[in-house]
Amino acid sequence: MDTDVVIAGAGPAGLMIACELATAGVATVLLEREERRPEFCRGFNLNARSLDVFARRGIADRFLAEGHKVPVTGFGGLPTPLDIGSLGWDHPFTLGIPQTRVEEILEERAIELGVDVRRGDELVTFGQDEDGVTVNGSIRAEYLVGCDGSRSAVRRLAGIAFPGTETTKYTLLGDVEADLAYGVHEGGVFVIPRPGYVRIVVADPVLDRPEPITLDVLGSIVDDAVGRPVELANPRWLTRFGNAARQAETYRRGRVLLAGDAAHIHPPAGAQGVNLAIADAMNLGWKLAAAAQGWASPELLDTYHSERHAAGARVLLHTQAQALLGGDRVGPLRELFAELSELDGVGKYLAELVTGVETCYDMGELTSHPWLGRMAPDLAVSVDGRPTSIARLLREGRGVLLDFGNRDHIALERIDVFRAEPLDETPVDAMLIRPDGHVAWLARDGREEPGPLPEALARWFGLVPA
Ligand SMILES: Cc1cc2nc3c(=O)[nH]c(=O)nc-3n(C[C@H](O)[C@H](O)[C@H](O)COP(=O)(O)OP(=O)(O)OC[C@H]3O[C@@H](n4cnc5c(N)ncnc54)[C@H](O)[C@@H]3O)c2cc1C
Repeated sequence: MDTDVVIAGAGPAGLMIACELATAGVATVLLEREERRPEFCRGFNLNARSLDVFARRGIADRFLAEGHKVPVTGFGGLPTPLDIGSLGWDHPFTLGIPQTRVEEILEERAIELGVDVRRGDELVTFGQDEDGVTVNGSIRAEYLVGCDGSRSAVRRLAGIAFPGTETTKYTLLGDVEADLAYGVHEGGVFVIPRPGYVRIVVADPVLDRPEPITLDVLGSIVDDAVGRPVELANPRWLTRFGNAARQAETYRRGRVLLAGDAAHIHPPAGAQGVNLAIADAMNLGWKLAAAAQGWASPELLDTYHSERHAAGARVLLHTQAQALLGGDRVGPLRELFAELSELDGVGKYLAELVTGVETCYDMGELTSHPWLGRMAPDLAVSVDGRPTSIARLLREGRGVLLDFGNRDHIALERIDVFRAEPLDETPVDAMLIRPDGHVAWLARDGREEPGPLPEALARWFGLVPA
């Protein structure tokens, strides 16, 4: 083998998986087609869930230092934003930060950790056999991950279908200078402030547009929509995007896996894509590392598909719902939805949905505690008399068995076992936390869920009881 894993695509998904693999000590080659990152920037936010993920690797501060915190999120452009500031989350805000900076920070981190990042190197072909994959006819590795975006070559070459719905409507985007105030104008022209320019977003009345988007094209559509001539100048980026929603039929075919936009596309409502890519990466990284290092149970890598396909389907559901709420002739529905979103608990439900905080993986039938399957809260604990927290204990990217009682535990390879004192109130006596931060097992009031600890250790860490 030339390396353990090849990743195609250095967007948020590929970079985060590379960081996760390198943290686990897995040799990784990251192929990126482009010599350098484009001048334009697609997304501008990290949600609470992504910040929780970064905190569990000790890098949240790198992003927090550069962004601005907004204690609300939105749903389908409803007039009342959803409050997240009072929900008691570890990161009760959305962070405004350009996607390009997120990628630069992750790329710096990947290089720090020793990932072999090869820019200007496109994946053109690959083959797989029982023992590995061969990429571009020359790089031999155990696994290949396609993080090569919505038009993924890896997905196509692996023969993985991408079913879903076609684009029925396009939206124009222009990063320009304009004499338009921020906010929503007549004709649904949405103006978002950017440093030194604005981002204009407006429905494209033409579905089959043969010509490229120019300043004149955007200008005339904006003029028609607001009902007066608007001056636009100095375009930085002009494009249009559709409302298609598709999901790969499988996220794994043998030794080939898909993550990020390669695995799913959806309307950009609610600014999800970067965050979903990071969530996929956090789920896949440790499992792929376990498979490459030879200690994964036979089913572990398949749980990447079952867990993340289900999570992706939720995002397709709510982004499509949000896009519909922004459509024509849905005024009464929007009004009703706005009323509903202000009912007790509904705003919280929607906020947890759009930020991915609700994400809960199936840990087995006999689960009743709400923490099981969800990301463990970042409790303050004391280990050996020193104050620390769950997020800190997860920084090495290993599993954590945290025991607040006095059980006897043998030292376990692949898992850090801590006898801890809770500094925050906790309803559990012990918990097993996967490297991605999700609670896989817990004990409370003398009961173990979803079953005895050795079963959870075997399922998630390939540890066979002696
Ligand atoms: C207009 C717009 C606005 C958006 N706004 C937001 C937002 O506010 N918030 C948000 O979270 N998301 C937003 N998104 C979505 C977000 O940009 C994507 O979901 C996200 O970039 C997906 O990350 P990824 O790593 O899967 O893919 P990408 O970021 O697309 O990265 C794929 C990488 O693979 C490379 N590549 C492609 N083919 C190959 C190959 N054969 N070999 C090697 N490399 C290859 C590409 O050059 C690219 O660098 C927006 C998207 C659009 C279009």
